[in-house]
Amino acid sequence: MSTRPACRNCQTPVLALTAAVTGGVCLRCAGKWRHSTKHSALLADQSAWSDASKRSRAYEPGATLHYFDEFYWCKRCNAPCVFTAVQQKHAYEVEKRYLFQTRKHCDSCHALMKGASPGT
Ligand SMILES: [Zn+2]
Ligand SMILES: [Zn+2]
Repeated sequence: MSTRPACRNCQTPVLALTAAVTGGVCLRCAGKWRHSTKHSALLADQSAWSDASKRSRAYEPGATLHYFDEFYWCKRCNAPCVFTAVQQKHAYEVEKRYLFQTRKHCDSCHALMKGASPGT
């Protein structure tokens, strides 16, 4: 008996290959997400990046770069999450995080792992 994975968003069966590429959603939901990210562009201030980020390939002095909302699944609890453009700007320009250091956990799992909150 072969079980086809279901879209994590709308529960329609999806091909395993598709699920592997999209992170577990059908192409329709993935497309919707991609589309919604287009409206979230936030201008990046590259001069505020950390030195490590400036040494990365993404750094192009004089270029106009934008942050976009990024969708991902929490590695720990599998919750759907968004790393918003605003959060990215704060992470890379204020916290000076490395540019390719993306989020892998939702806020609550992140807090749990940091020990900042004992959880419920
Ligand atoms: Zn779907
Ligand atoms: Zn989580």
